[in-house]
Amino acid sequence: MLNMESVEKIAPVMSAYGRFPVTIVKGKGCYVWDDAGKKYLDFTSGIAVCALGHVPDAVEEVLKKQLDTLWHCSNLFHIASQEKLAGMLTKLTCCDQVFFCNSGAEANEGAIKLARRYAHLIKGKDNGHIVTFNHSFHGRTMATLTATAQEKIQNGFGPLMPGFRYLPYNSDEAIQALKEDDDCIAVMLEMVQGEGGVIPADPSWIKALADVCKEKGMLLMVDEVQTGIGRTGTLFAYQQYGIEPDVVTAAKALGSGIPIGAFMAKKHVSQVMTPGTHGSTFGGNPFATTAGVATLEAFEKQHVLEHCEKSAAYLNGKLIELKAKYPGLIKDVRGKGLLIGVETTFPAIDAVNQLREEQNVLILTAGKNVLRILPPLVVTNSEIDHFIKALGEVLNKQ
Ligand SMILES: *Cc1c(COP(=O)(O)O)cnc(C)c1O
Repeated sequence: MLNMESVEKIAPVMSAYGRFPVTIVKGKGCYVWDDAGKKYLDFTSGIAVCALGHVPDAVEEVLKKQLDTLWHCSNLFHIASQEKLAGMLTKLTCCDQVFFCNSGAEANEGAIKLARRYAHLIKGKDNGHIVTFNHSFHGRTMATLTATAQEKIQNGFGPLMPGFRYLPYNSDEAIQALKEDDDCIAVMLEMVQGEGGVIPADPSWIKALADVCKEKGMLLMVDEVQTGIGRTGTLFAYQQYGIEPDVVTAAKALGSGIPIGAFMAKKHVSQVMTPGTHGSTFGGNPFATTAGVATLEAFEKQHVLEHCEKSAAYLNGKLIELKAKYPGLIKDVRGKGLLIGVETTFPAIDAVNQLREEQNVLILTAGKNVLRILPPLVVTNSEIDHFIKALGEVLNKQ
């Protein structure tokens, strides 16, 4: 018999996360409830996942039917909902083919493999590197944490993966370095650096980056795990920049909370993934891809992108008013669509905690001095007013 006595004293779940002292048991729309029955306005959306709000009717209805039909069958067989979702994504983007997986890290891991195989097969290049940017976030697997140019994410996990080079985001220096880099096979970046402080890419920099990628035959790969599926007001953020990436990754909001990720590519790239080159047991399973189809259908039926754009303008306007009212507390309001960062002069976590404890409002941080505000894309103006009032109360106390 295993002696369980010694382990009973510590929590059975590893302490890998810093957690708020709240247990969420229910969600609907822009609200969640804790185990004591306290109701919160949720402007975190489960970290940019619940774009349609919690348990959205349109997706719930379809998933209830799918629960009675088929959950899993493996990728040894054709899966109709997977093919349908891939068809929708390719129609709505510049990409031609999609591979489904289960998370953002797995999507980026797949994009990295795709870039390496493309370099190997098409360019005859085997030891090239992928350029990523300072303050990026691409995930927690070994390859994606190596791609993530942040010491705090990599610390203690060495040796890191070979084949990455970091350059400064939004900088001429990066463009110049890429022009002189003959070993770079691909560039991977976020259109808005989310975890790294909510920093949108500068449009003229993106143009220059796309140009240098084309000129040098390097793949342009955008990590839209957080920005994708409507968060910034277009289905993908790159669509606001007048560029066509070779590879796009998505995950967070794609399944409304059912785990799903995807990497997609133009056909000259995706063709290198021949049978047997990549796989994922659960990837694109019937339940997850049904959630994806229902999510994109709800986006269209409910005009979610148009709504997001309007709500973002409204919320942004209110935040700029607060910045004018509290110039000593708010340094900057930035972001794109409903991925909004508010840079504070005081520790952002203080406001996050006070909002939660005193105002029943949930938001996140992005680094030490940035409030990260991620309401569901279906948020109403009265919910925004409620949030702004709560934030005003908290700012009054700093
Ligand atoms: C969240 C995130 C990831 C990682 O996604 P997981 O599903 O947690 O693996 C990767 N890239 C970006 C930009 C993200 O925001």
